[in-house]
Amino acid sequence: MNNTIIFSELSVLNVMMKKYYNDNDICVYASLFNISFLFIVEPLGEWCFHIILHIINNKIHNNHHYQYLIENRVNIERWPFFLILISIYYNYYYIGLAFLKYWVFHTIIHLYPTWIPTLTKHHILHHTKKTFNFCVSATWPDKLFGTYTN
Ligand SMILES: [Zn+2]
Ligand SMILES: [Zn+2]
Repeated sequence: MNNTIIFSELSVLNVMMKKYYNDNDICVYASLFNISFLFIVEPLGEWCFHIILHIINNKIHNNHHYQYLIENRVNIERWPFFLILISIYYNYYYIGLAFLKYWVFHTIIHLYPTWIPTLTKHHILHHTKKTFNFCVSATWPDKLFGTYTN
C-alpha cells in the first residue's frame, strides 16, 4: 500500500474491504458496505461533485448546460471514463464505480428519458433551474440539503 491517501475515509474502508475479501469469507459487512456505498455515499458524492462544478464554473459542465439549453442536444460524456481509469489505476475502485453509476444514470436520462421518468424530471429541472436538483441518480440528497424542487 504505497498509494497517496487522498480520500482518507474511503482509503480506510478500502483497506478494510480488502481484508475481508482476502479472507475469502462471505462477509455481511462487505455487502452492507457495497449497498450503503451505492445508495448513500455515492448519491452524496454526486451532489457534492455537481454543486462544486457549478461553484467553480466548470467549463465542461457549463458546456453540457449550454448544449441542452441552446442547441437542444447532449453529447455522450467522455470525462467520467478518464476519471474511472485514474480511479482504477490508483485502486480506488469505489470511486470509479461512483463515476460509472453517475454516467449510466445521466446518459439514460438524456438519451432514454422514459426509462426513469422521476429522475429525468428531477434532472431536467436542474437544466432550467441551475441552483436546484444537483443529485442525478437520487432525489433525497437535494431534499436533505434544501436544493430540491419539483
Ligand atoms: Zn444533464
Ligand atoms: Zn449542472
